[in-house]
Amino acid sequence: FAPWDDPDAKPLIRFRNVTKRFGEFTAIDNLTLDIYEREFFALLGPSGCGKTTMMRMLAGFENPTEGVIELAGQDIAPVPPNKRAVNMMFQSYALFPHLSVWDNIAFGLRRDRMSKQDIEKRVDEMLRLVRLEKFAKRKPHQISGGQRQRVALARSLAKAPKLLLLDEPLGALDKKLRQDTQFELMDIQEKTGTTFVIVTHDQEEAMTVASRVAVMDQGQLMQVSTPDRIYETPNSVYVADFIGDVNIIKGRATPDGEETYRIDWAEGQQPLIAKSSNGFASGQTCHLAIRPEKVTISSERPADAANALQGRVHDIAYLGNLSTYHVELPNGTIIKAQTSNTRRISRRTFTWEDTVWLSWTATAGVLLAD
Ligand code: ATP
Repeated sequence: FAPWDDPDAKPLIRFRNVTKRFGEFTAIDNLTLDIYEREFFALLGPSGCGKTTMMRMLAGFENPTEGVIELAGQDIAPVPPNKRAVNMMFQSYALFPHLSVWDNIAFGLRRDRMSKQDIEKRVDEMLRLVRLEKFAKRKPHQISGGQRQRVALARSLAKAPKLLLLDEPLGALDKKLRQDTQFELMDIQEKTGTTFVIVTHDQEEAMTVASRVAVMDQGQLMQVSTPDRIYETPNSVYVADFIGDVNIIKGRATPDGEETYRIDWAEGQQPLIAKSSNGFASGQTCHLAIRPEKVTISSERPADAANALQGRVHDIAYLGNLSTYHVELPNGTIIKAQTSNTRRISRRTFTWEDTVWLSWTATAGVLLAD
């Protein structure tokens, strides 16, 4: 399932050069984006980057100042919110407190004057989908937060929208429940085949649920790709830093063989070696982004490592399955190295103040422009 790699695939949603201004302020800046049918698409970015504005334009609460948004090939600007095949589920769930779970799910169908028989069939189907058959008669205050979230989801899906917008849908749940619910959400999305667009602050959540992630900053798309490509090959320091943990080493690149660069990065330190297909001119400022799990920590200098630096263990974070070491280099730079603890017993571990070697290969990091 990768319609974004298929040049013939037709997107369900298309933003074409969309700009949204509020007075003088540009919230969305000439943004172009395709989202495909059956995708679980995540909008990720810091507060104020424009995620909610994107959703509100899809739902019809706002229209673009410039540009066009298409749904299945049609400009949606003239279509009022209630006539769009789009539904939005809010963080607050907005359930009616005086109505039962069943009636909450039936609400929109009744308003659409669907026949009684069809409503019954559809509501029961939705209850099964979210596994709440036994809770049909309860009121929202008689069920748990996680169950309320599922009722809200069932209600949003009852009218079989083409597109469901989820604004921080799991924000009110605690971490454990949130993680379980992420899998449930993926399952429900797959079963119904509805296109989901989710807004979240939580990068782990976006990486878990989404087929593709858009990383946004100040009304622009910084990178749109699958979670693994975003993590492995971020296109900028911004994205590398926003997604997951990373060491960023700033230096100057000098070409040194085919797609290979020498990076001078600190007075008195050996230059680093990195391979990159991104081209750099001699002396160009660059940033080597390297994930902590790609950095090996050892007591002896590895014989054949392309990059090896000596330092002192400054801090250790024990995370159960993993440990992250913060190693201070002689010039004060801190480099993070993460080790898996699966073979902890047979492996030497390190403690505070130990002198250690950090090493990585020439292809372990991503070399990014300034
Ligand atoms: P958060 O994660 O905090 O919800 P967001 O990424 O969803 O943030 P938006 O709500 O889309 O951000 O807002 C983007 C920018 O547009 C913000 O700077 C916000 O202040 C501004 N903005 C949004 N709606 C309006 C409005 N109706 N009038 C003026 N400015 C607005």
